[in-house]
This record gives sequence, C-alpha cells and structure tokens, in this order.
Amino acid sequence: MVDPHVNFAMLTPPNSRGIVRSPQGASYLLLGKQVIKIDKHPLLSHIYMLGPEQTDKVLCRFDRGTQRFVLVPYERGYVSSSGQEINYVKVVGEAQRRFQDGFLQQSQKIRYRDGFRTDKIDEYRQVLEINSVLGGNIKGILLYGLDEGELALAGKYTGAARELREGVITARKYINQIKNELMLGKVDNPLLQRVHEIFTVEPDSDEAEALLITLLRNIEDTGNKLARHISDNFSRIWLVEYHDPNLVGEVYHQDPLKRIFINIKKSSAYHHNKRVNVKCRFLCSHYKVNDDVATFLHEASHNAAKTKDYFYLDSLESQRLLNEEMDKLLKSDIAKKGAKGIIDMAKTLKVTLPPFKDKPLAWMLYNYYPQVRGRFLMQNADLFSQIIMELADRIEPKAKRDTVSVKRLSAEVLALFITRALWQAGAAPEGGGMRP
Ligand SMILES: [Zn+2]
Repeated sequence: MVDPHVNFAMLTPPNSRGIVRSPQGASYLLLGKQVIKIDKHPLLSHIYMLGPEQTDKVLCRFDRGTQRFVLVPYERGYVSSSGQEINYVKVVGEAQRRFQDGFLQQSQKIRYRDGFRTDKIDEYRQVLEINSVLGGNIKGILLYGLDEGELALAGKYTGAARELREGVITARKYINQIKNELMLGKVDNPLLQRVHEIFTVEPDSDEAEALLITLLRNIEDTGNKLARHISDNFSRIWLVEYHDPNLVGEVYHQDPLKRIFINIKKSSAYHHNKRVNVKCRFLCSHYKVNDDVATFLHEASHNAAKTKDYFYLDSLESQRLLNEEMDKLLKSDIAKKGAKGIIDMAKTLKVTLPPFKDKPLAWMLYNYYPQVRGRFLMQNADLFSQIIMELADRIEPKAKRDTVSVKRLSAEVLALFITRALWQAGAAPEGGGMRP
C-alpha cells in the first residue's frame, strides 16, 4: 500500500486535502511519515484509486463534509446530493463492463465509419475521451478518412476531398525536396541562405548550425508523420464541420490514432471546387492548393515536432512573407502567450535569464538571443509550416506557377507511386522499427 520509492525531499507541501505532488506530477496522499499513490479513477471522475503501481487499488471518494477520503466499498449507505443511494461497487463494476463491451464491439468493425477505433484496449479509453471532446466541437463528421472507400461516399465534397488528399502528398513532397537540398550542404545553396535570413543568424556560425540541425530534425519528423498518413491510405485524415467557422484543422496530442481533423468548409480545396462548379476558367486556373498544404504541415507538426499555436500568421489566403511577420513581432509588443513561449524556450535551452520580467524579458530574449528566437519560431506551428512553404518555393519557383492541370497530373502520378511503395513497405507493423 505504502510507496517506498518516493523521495520526500522532492514533494510539494500538502494541500487542504492532504495531497502532495512529486516533480513528475504524480499525486500522493500523505499519511504521517508515509505516502500512498493516488490516481483518479479512469471511468468514474469522482472516485480515486489508492495504492502503488501494479497493485490492487483501494477505491475512495473525497467527503466534503468531513474533508477526508472515505473508502468506497464500505460506503453502501452513502447518499448522493441528488438524494439517491449509490452502491459504488456496483457502479464501478457496471462501468467496467460497459467499457469492455464497447471495446469488443468496436474492435470487430472493419472501418472507422462503421465504428472501428482501435484494437488496443489501453488506447480505447483515450480514444473515447478524444471523441467526446471532439463531439463538443463539431457539427458532424463528413468523411472518416480520405481513402477510396470514403471518397466514394463524399458526394458533393468529392472534388475537395481528392484535392485535400493531393495536398498531403504535396506536403510530403516539399519536405523530401527541402531535405535533399539542405543535405547537399552547399554553402551557396539559396535554401540555406534563406534559412539564415529567416533566423537572422550569421552563416557558418555555431548558432546557424544548431538551428539547421533542429530544423532538419523537425522537418524529417513531420515528413514521417505525413508518410504514415499516406501509407495507411489517408484513413486518419477526417473531414469535419466545426461549430467554430474559423477553425482550419485540429489534432489532439493525446489521440492514439493521431488523426488530423480538417474543417472542410474552411479548406481552400472546398472553396476552389465550389468556384469550379460555378463555371470559371481563367480565375480558377491561378488557384493554389498551397493553403491546404500549409494546413497539413501545420497539423502534422503538432504531432511530430510538438509545435504549439503561440500565434497565427495573418491570413491563409494571401501570400505571407515570414520576414514581414517577424518584423511585426519585433516591433509590436509580444502577446502574453508568445512571451511565455519565448521565456519557456530560454529555460529549456538553459539560458541565463537577464534580470527582467514577462514581456520585457521575452522581448529581450527574442531580439538578442538568436538561439531562443530561432527555436521559438520553429516551435510555432504556423511559422514552421510557413518556413517549409517558403523553402519549397525556392526549389521550384517555375513549377509552382505552372497551370493547375499539369500540377494535378503530376501529383496523381506521384500519389500512385508513393502509395504503392509505402503500401509495400508498410506491410511491416507500425512501430516495428521503421525509424532508426
Ligand atoms: Zn495548430
């Protein structure tokens, strides 16, 4: 029952409930000179489980009246605030059975649309949690993936869905191209020069090299995430309609399925197709799928490089230039969320902080510490995706201004090759050591 492996010196002082916390965030109940690990019950939010890892836990609830934890099994007579008597042993048992039944039912389905979510029971609870949060944010799910089976059901969204699928492939293509270019290691490489420009660092400096390594690693990780989406036939990229009309897309860090949710009505592909349907020849030929590509890079980077949304770039429609955005950051005062992000980054990098606080400190770090600035910018999803877009733009400025039909054709041919190659390579199970 009592946890012998706890370093008392590291624990926080007890709160009003007698709970102390470890630096890792675990909670313990303080009993004299001993502690007992305490966790929230995964199925019943008002029940706590007491006991060290890998032992049978004792169930408790917190009694507000007496300000104490009370054992649940002996609480058959406990009357809830609604006046009902609750038998916790029965309630917990039923909840566990419902959970098991739910898991068994869904794991026998074949497609996400039919209800399949996962065949790993320990992931199932997490998936349910994400689904319930998602449920509150969306009006509905239009497509449970962008695989052929789902596309057949897309109806009026078919064109947009296909184009979004191309967007994923293009995003992956950009990453490969950038990686290849940068790995050449040529000093006069325009991409490399642009990287130095973006981060305002001297070429050949240690700072430049450190930032380039981090950038490459993040780019690579993001590319691998996208490759996984392509190799499982885009079945974890779901098209939804959000209540919030401004939300472009979303991922949940805790989602075991690592799904990308795209707000179809906010996608460029959707608006493009709507215009095509209203018959348009000349204007539409200048349409760029770039905004959706940037969206996929943005969302994939959340999962791959743990990027955050400290701030967004102004508009997805217009051609955004990073340096303009960054000048704005330099001149205007930095928003609170961004300031915290900058200071956190400095702490992560173990920078000795100058004697200032909050915004002035953030401003100082941003302006005079290139490493903090560079890493902070990279850690911001919208900026990270825009860096990739700009670098890609420097690789093939001509091809990008070609007509849409040419671009589409090449993307489709590419899709064929990539899905085939990865489908074959992907026969190995996930996590089976595909990455070094
Ligand atoms: Zn985001």
